[in-house]
Amino acid sequence: MGRAVAGDGPARAYALPALHDLPGGVPVTGSSFDIVVLGGGSGGYACALRAAELGLRVALVERDKLGGTCLHRGCIPTKALLHAAEIADGAKESAKFGVRATFDGIDLPAVHSYRENVVGRLYKGLQGLVKAADAITYVEGTGRLVAPDAVEVDGTRYQATRAVVLATGSYPRTLPGLEIGGRIVTSDQALTLDFVPSRAIVLGGGVIGVEFASVWRSFGAEVTIVEALPSLIPNEDAAACKALERAFRRRGITSLTGSRFASATQDGDSVTVTLENGETLTGDVLLVAVGRGPAGAGHGFEEVGVTVDRGFVPTDERLRTNVAGVYAVGDLVPGLQLAHRGFAQGIFVAEEIAGLGPHVIDEAGIPRVTYCDPEVSSVGYTEAQAVERLGADKVQTYEYNLGGNGRSQILGTTGFVKVVREKDGPVVGMHMVGARVGELVGEGQLIVNWEAYPEDVAALIHAHPTQSEAIGEAFLALAGKPLHSHS
Ligand SMILES: Cc1cc2nc3c(=O)[nH]c(=O)nc-3n(C[C@H](O)[C@H](O)[C@H](O)COP(=O)(O)OP(=O)(O)OC[C@H]3O[C@@H](n4cnc5c(N)ncnc54)[C@H](O)[C@@H]3O)c2cc1C
Repeated sequence: MGRAVAGDGPARAYALPALHDLPGGVPVTGSSFDIVVLGGGSGGYACALRAAELGLRVALVERDKLGGTCLHRGCIPTKALLHAAEIADGAKESAKFGVRATFDGIDLPAVHSYRENVVGRLYKGLQGLVKAADAITYVEGTGRLVAPDAVEVDGTRYQATRAVVLATGSYPRTLPGLEIGGRIVTSDQALTLDFVPSRAIVLGGGVIGVEFASVWRSFGAEVTIVEALPSLIPNEDAAACKALERAFRRRGITSLTGSRFASATQDGDSVTVTLENGETLTGDVLLVAVGRGPAGAGHGFEEVGVTVDRGFVPTDERLRTNVAGVYAVGDLVPGLQLAHRGFAQGIFVAEEIAGLGPHVIDEAGIPRVTYCDPEVSSVGYTEAQAVERLGADKVQTYEYNLGGNGRSQILGTTGFVKVVREKDGPVVGMHMVGARVGELVGEGQLIVNWEAYPEDVAALIHAHPTQSEAIGEAFLALAGKPLHSHS
C-alpha cells in the first residue's frame, strides 16, 4: 500500500490511505511535486535531500527501507563484519605485539547484533534527516513510472511538475543455471548467515567477493576464490591486483584466477563446484559474487519510452535519459556501482533540476576502495589506462613501499602507494595497497581531481608518523628529493 508522510510542501489533490511510520508526519492529500524520486537508496535519497535544501517539493518513493542496498545490505553491514574480522585477527596475532589474549572463536549472534546496531543507528539518523526535510514526502510502496512525469504507487498518482528521477538501484546477479538457495548464497544471504563456514567457495574475485573472502578467512574458514579473469579485482592497477593476490596467499586464501565455473550441486551438508577444467571444490557455502544487475526492468520505464539496455538506464553526462524530464542516478546508470557515486549523482540531478548548472561528474575522478585485508584504494587512471590514453612515453610512475613508512610498520602491514603522472604534467592516478589505505584515498582524490603536480604535493607537509606520509614520500621522490626512499 502506498503510504505517505509530508511536511508542508506539496499541493493536495488525492487522499492517501495511511500515514507511513516515519514519526511525526502530516497526512498528505495531494500528489503534485516538483520532483518524484523512484527509489530511496544512496542515489535517490541524496537527490531528495539536496532538492529539498534547494526549496523543491519532492516525493520520495521507496518500497523497502530508506537507505537501500548501501545501508542495509551493502557498504555498512559488510564493513561492520570486516571490523569484527579485524578484531579477530588482532586477538589471534596479539602475541606479536606483546599482548596476551586468546582467540576463542566467533560469537556470530553477537557479531550480527553489533552489525544490526550500527545499521540501526544510521537508519534512524537517515529517517530523521528525511523527516526533518519539510519539502520531502516519503511514500512507502512500490512505484511504477506511468508517464514521463508521473509515478503511481498503489493507485495513487504522484505527478512531477519538473522531473522524475529513476533510482531503483541493482540486485545481486547469478550465472545461468546457478540457482540461489540453501548453501548457494549471494551477498544478501551471506551477510546474515547463521554459521561461520569452515570451507567457503567464493565465485567472483571482484570487490564483493574479496570482501567476504577476507571476513570468512579471519573468522577461521578455508576460503577459495574462483575468478574467470586472470586476476582478482581486475579493474584495478595490475600492481595492486598482484599485491592483493600475494597478501591473500600469505593469509591462506586460495585464488583460482583464470578459472571458469561450470556447475554446482548441493546437499544438506555441502556444496560442490565443478570448474570448466574438471576440477571440483567442496565447501559448506558458495557465495555467488559475480556482479550486480541494474534494476531497470518491471517499473514501467520502457513502456513510457525510457531506453533500458540490459537492465541499465543509459543517460548522457547530465544524467538525462532519452525521455525529456526523466533522469536516472546510481547503480541503474552504467558505470561504477558505488554508493558515493550515487550520492554525487543524486546531488547533481537535484542541482540540475533547480537550474544551478552543476559540473559534470568525472567517473575517473571517483575514488574506489576494495575493503578487505589488506585494503586497496585508488582514484584516476591505472598505469595501463594512462598508457592507453597518453602513450607509453608520456607516462611516469613511482611506487613507494610501505616498508619505509613508520606507521605501517607499527601496524605490521605491507603494500605501497603508486603514483601515475603525465610526464612533466599532473598526477592522473593513485593506487594504494595496505591496511587502512582506504582512508588515504581522500587525499589521493584531491590530488588527482585538482590535477596537482608532484612538485605541488611535495611542498605539503604530512604529519609523522602517519600512513599519509607514504603519499608525501612518493611525491618527494617524484619531485626529485626523496627522503626515506631506497630507489
Ligand atoms: C555487499 C555489498 C557491499 C558494498 N560495499 C560498498 C562500499 O563499501 N562502498 C560503496 O561505495 N558501495 C558499496 N556497495 C554498492 C552500493 O551499495 C551501491 O552502489 C548503492 O547502494 C547504489 O545506490 P542506488 O541508490 O543506486 O541503489 P540502491 O541502494 O539499490 O537503492 C535502490 C532503492 O530503490 C528501491 N526500489 C527499487 N524499485 C522500486 C520501486 N519500483 N518502487 C519503490 N522503490 C523501489 C529499492 O528498494 C532500493 O531501496 C556495496 C554493495 C554490496 C551489495
